[in-house]
Amino acid sequence: MVINCQSICIKCGKQRVVVKTKKERLNSSWVYTTITACPDSECQKLVDAMLNKEKAVRSKIIENQEREKVLRDKRRRRSHRRKVVAVQTKK
Ligand SMILES: [Zn+2]
Repeated sequence: MVINCQSICIKCGKQRVVVKTKKERLNSSWVYTTITACPDSECQKLVDAMLNKEKAVRSKIIENQEREKVLRDKRRRRSHRRKVVAVQTKK
């Protein structure tokens, strides 16, 4: 069963209204994204703040993961370069 959480406000439980529909191209197919908002604008502000906070936390985690990946790649590349240099000096 698929529960569409987007259609119900997570804060007050009211039926959310569709603000706009976005059409995005994703992997050579069109994806429709509906943007919904709480009919209560004050409530929507709170929900937005909550989601933004969550998004910030998530992007921080992704940022850290990316940094780790870059460091790992750098380390790998450095050891690879050392090997290449060793081969070149032999000639
Ligand atoms: Zn609400």
